[in-house]
Amino acid sequence: MDKATEAGGVGATVPAAPPSPEAGTARTSVTQRAIAQIKAMIADGTLRAGQRLPTEREFAVQLGLSRSSMREATRALTSLGVLEARHGAGVYVTGLRPSDLLETFGVVAEFSRGTALIELIQVRRILEPYATSIAAARITPEQLAEVHTHLERIGEGTSVEEMVAADLDFHQAIVSAAGNSALTAIVEGLSSRTFRARVWRGHKDAGVVSRLRNDHDRIYQALIQRDPEAARAAATTHILEVENWLRANIADYQ
Ligand SMILES: [Zn+2]
Repeated sequence: MDKATEAGGVGATVPAAPPSPEAGTARTSVTQRAIAQIKAMIADGTLRAGQRLPTEREFAVQLGLSRSSMREATRALTSLGVLEARHGAGVYVTGLRPSDLLETFGVVAEFSRGTALIELIQVRRILEPYATSIAAARITPEQLAEVHTHLERIGEGTSVEEMVAADLDFHQAIVSAAGNSALTAIVEGLSSRTFRARVWRGHKDAGVVSRLRNDHDRIYQALIQRDPEAARAAATTHILEVENWLRANIADYQ
């Protein structure tokens, strides 16, 4: 064990190996235990953000696991954004930033339909106006200039694809200006590109795309005025427009 610990570069005490051998135990439970052990090592600081893991063989020995269980655990934690395989350089703990850990969260928005989709938009209606109001207080002239570029793209966009891309960039720039990376990652995760495209297409087909464009003008004006309350109100109105559009067209989203 000493030798493996030394070679692996993980200095602190390694959690005790499971008492029973893997043979005869369901594979999933062994893998689950391996996942729990690695998570515990990250939580208590034995493994830190950006640190390289010992080799698969060494780490399996340390944790008292088979290499195949170790591999499955590593894969699972990689898909969760906790670990990352760097080609030819081994497996590392990610930066453990909210954006790393919430990457998979985006599928919630992409896969939600019906009432679940309405509920997600209601959560956006709580978070995005808040982020927009903070941005109004903190946004730098450079960030404001960037938001303006995206606003112009929204105004000039002729295709739905152009308008959706500009719309995403517009809100992303604003939420980033609020300066809270956890909030940015959550708001981005709540936002579905597919759904956004359908909202813009729906408005375009109904000849009311100006409603969405005006929403963005109002948000931008509030940012220029550095008026957090107006920014919050404008963002709420914008998301309500989307929410109401969804309610009216919910039959298409069941
Ligand atoms: Zn928008």
